Parts: sequence; structure tokens; C-alpha cells
Amino acid sequence: MLHEEWPCLLGRWDSLQALVKGLERPYLSRVGGYDVSALYPDPAVAIRIATEYELPEVLPIPVYDLLRVTEMGMPLPAPEAYREAKLSALTADDFHKLTRGRAELRVHVLDVLDSYTCVPPSCGVCFEPPDEDVNPDAPEDTACQKAFREWFGEAAKRGLCAPDPIAWFLSASSQCEFLSACPGCKEWARKNFQSIREDLWSRLPVLVW
Ligand SMILES: [Zn+2]
Repeated sequence: MLHEEWPCLLGRWDSLQALVKGLERPYLSRVGGYDVSALYPDPAVAIRIATEYELPEVLPIPVYDLLRVTEMGMPLPAPEAYREAKLSALTADDFHKLTRGRAELRVHVLDVLDSYTCVPPSCGVCFEPPDEDVNPDAPEDTACQKAFREWFGEAAKRGLCAPDPIAWFLSASSQCEFLSACPGCKEWARKNFQSIREDLWSRLPVLVW
């Protein structure tokens, strides 16, 4: 049961998220309000059960989920669906670990956004020769690299991907369509976003708990 609700495979997690997300709107139009907690398994309860029954392989997934449920985001322009978790199920030690996990995840994601792992290599199509004054040991970004770097810089500054980086990098694949970068670089980025997601997912046990 716990393994089904909290799958260790990213592909399975994505399918579950898409499935439940699709149920939110019909559910809210039936019951009213914006609370969709009843549609999702409770991550705080799952953390307690996985800890008590010694299921360490399950733990990182409800921990990640709880971090996104309890993330304080920016004020939303319009009311949106929200979830709550049964925080009373957690121990003081759990809260301590969660605080550390949130910080570790945030630092790691900011590092990814700031590194060259996100930015396409010089593609040849978009290359602009650097100014003569530029230090040849530190060449300037190409036009495409600049577009991607600015986008990631903005996302990092505004904390756009902080609550749920796994979902953010999934939506980034469609968002990058609007960037002023060449089709080759966008295609590279789309493939790369999936690698970044898989890498993040595999690091969750170390990062969040
Ligand atoms: Zn390019």
C-alpha cells in the first residue's frame, strides 16, 4: 500500500501526480472550496508509518511531498487548490529533519540553476563571436546560453521552482518554447531537463532526509 502511494520510480510518481491533478477540478466543483487534501495520501502520516515499520526506501518520497505541501509560497494572484497534512503525526525529530531537508534541497536546486548543467553548450547556430576585449579564458555566453541563463536566474531569484523542483523542471520543457533561443538549444534543454529531474529524484534520499 505504502509503496503504491509513494512509488520509488520517477515515472510512476509522474503518472500518479498527473492522475490526481486531473481529479482536482471535478472534485472541487463537487465539494466547493479549494482544499484538495482528501484526494492525496497524507505525507506526514506516511513518514510516521515508514519510520515505525523501518521502510527507509519509501521515506524520501513522502518527505519531498510534505516539503511541497508546507512550502510557504508567494501570495497567489487568484485562489488556487491547496493541500494540508496532518503535522501532528510528526515528532520533533521529524520537524528537525524536515527543516534541514528543505534547506539542503533548496541549496542543491539553486546550484543546479546557477551551473552549466542547465545551459546548452554552444550550438553553432546561435554563436555570437565575443568582443575582442573579452578574456579568451572566460568566453561570453552565446545568445542562446544568455537566454537560458537569464531565465534560470529569474526562476532562482523569484524562488519559482523552490516548492516543487521535480514538477518545475517538467513544466520547464514547455515553458522554454517561449525563450528567444534556437530550436536546437531548446531540444537539448528539453532532454536535459529530464536528466536533471532524474538526478534530483535519485538524490532525494540524501538531500531531504
Ligand atoms: Zn542555440
